[in-house]
Amino acid sequence: MTTRKDFFKLGLLGSTLLIPDAFKKATRLFPGPGFSVREKPLILSTWNHGIAANARAWEVLGSGGSILDAVEQGVRVTENDETNRSVGLAGHPDRDGIVTLDASIMKGNGDCGSVAFVRRIKHPITLARKVMENTPHIMLAGEGAQQFAVSEGMPLEDEKLHPDAKNAYEKWLEEAEYKPVINIENHDTIGMIGLDGDGNLAGSCTTSGLSYKMHGRVGDSPIIGAGLYVDQKSGAATATGMGESIIKICGSFLAVELMRQGRSPQEACDEVVRRLIEKNRGQIDDIQAGFIAMNTEGDYGAAAVRPGFNFARHTSGGNEMVDSSNYFSER
Ligand code: ASP
Repeated sequence: MTTRKDFFKLGLLGSTLLIPDAFKKATRLFPGPGFSVREKPLILSTWNHGIAANARAWEVLGSGGSILDAVEQGVRVTENDETNRSVGLAGHPDRDGIVTLDASIMKGNGDCGSVAFVRRIKHPITLARKVMENTPHIMLAGEGAQQFAVSEGMPLEDEKLHPDAKNAYEKWLEEAEYKPVINIENHDTIGMIGLDGDGNLAGSCTTSGLSYKMHGRVGDSPIIGAGLYVDQKSGAATATGMGESIIKICGSFLAVELMRQGRSPQEACDEVVRRLIEKNRGQIDDIQAGFIAMNTEGDYGAAAVRPGFNFARHTSGGNEMVDSSNYFSER
């Protein structure tokens, strides 16, 4: 029987667009069919936690907020969710038992802000927005980001792990021998992209990053162009999954750039996933990564390396989960 690895090798024989037939048979829903509502507003966000975040974003838009307000307020719901182990201060810690957060925010005109490796701040997405609006910089990290938060009146939270995160960490310590892990399961960022009734785009992305990462590790989420990119003329995209693989291909920027060159959001996401697989060939069995993208027309798409990635879509017709297309048919 041909394994996923064999299929992968076959895939590398062709160019990124020329996939041998045998390889095609191994795929499910790839290239993805794409979606189109041609309707505004439209809000998309990654994973199941996107439903509650979308609902809040929609409410903000409905009460006269801007699309930037909507994508900020939307993901704050996830940051605030005590049951969430991959976003916010209740998330899983790094291998030293410390929760460090990454976030970014971007407007269609190119304005953007981000924070990385930040501790004790409940809403890193709001801090990222403050970096964008109240400093001459785009990115602040670590202690400096925390100092800036305090100077902006943001409270420092207790640095206590959520009890469930603490239990899981203690269990991990017993078995893992303090080795940082990267695998297809230990992450779930929220990335949100939105289009308002006038066609304005914005996006946000926030995460506690990979569980049990090395202390100091920064993922793709706060890196403009990797975890998030928005360009009013071309579209918006955001990413989730193994950040190292996404950074290597500037994944979100690549999706937006492909849309600028005329690809549909779905075609752009499909190509980004192909590119990611090609660039990460040695480790692909351990990688999950997913992308969502939209343009100003209300077309959108999603693609992932392997099954399991879904996203929440809010239109005037409702708020529901949608499965992404995926390159490999197995998890
Ligand atoms: N992209 C995030 C990171 O690498 C992980 C995730 O999607 O949860 O930090």
